[in-house]
Amino acid sequence: MRKQVAAANWKMNLTYQQAEELITGIINTPHELSADQYAVFAVPFPYLTMVADKLKGKANTGVAAQNCYTKTSGAYTGETSVEMLKSIEVGYVVLGHSERREYFNESNEMLAEKVNVVLGAGLTPIFCCGEALSIREAGTQNEYVGNQLKESLFHLSADDLKKVIIAYEPIWAIGTGKTATSEQAQEMHAHLRSVLAAQYGTDVANEISILYGGSVKGSNAKEIFGQPDVDGGLVGGASLKADEFVQIIQSLK
Ligand code: PGA
Repeated sequence: MRKQVAAANWKMNLTYQQAEELITGIINTPHELSADQYAVFAVPFPYLTMVADKLKGKANTGVAAQNCYTKTSGAYTGETSVEMLKSIEVGYVVLGHSERREYFNESNEMLAEKVNVVLGAGLTPIFCCGEALSIREAGTQNEYVGNQLKESLFHLSADDLKKVIIAYEPIWAIGTGKTATSEQAQEMHAHLRSVLAAQYGTDVANEISILYGGSVKGSNAKEIFGQPDVDGGLVGGASLKADEFVQIIQSLK
């Protein structure tokens, strides 16, 4: 069984006090994670330590940064390195979210470098990909998203690729309330797995967790996560409510 992951993406939301309340609320809402199930929290940089402390000793949980820089140290005012993240026990880094691609011009090439530094530090990249509405309407989404994987991940060895978590997030479904249907999600996830298989072989492809993101809610998580090639989700809006995120965790296969 592949790792099944419910990843919260808090984005640039919440004050420190609200963040503390949310993580405490989630911890205190009864739920269980089985051996293959993980709950990961991608929280703003100033809250990483607090959230990591709260989750200390809780099996199958993890903390993720929402970004990092391509360099590991030096005169880069305002940036955060993977070495810094590692030193505060952050285990994951979300890379290439569509908001970073759009507002901060992150390219497939730059993301390949970020994937390298994250893996180099022994952390797990959660690599985001996904197409805009115009691409879906033109019917070229498979080629487009497949290319995002090729340009940012295919330089990796099979052993390194196996350490990456992929999150497919169609941009037209992010924060819009418009979820891809579970069939659309399954179709793209199966396609991405076949792209991975063509390069690395079926055994490797079958080991890689591919999360779905875009308007995942408590009410639709079970159906989406139930698809054979969907291994959990990256959740924005609905991860800001303790009860609902716990419901999403409990919807993992
Ligand atoms: P959403 O965001 O769940 O609010 O659509 C998902 C994401 O952007 O990761």
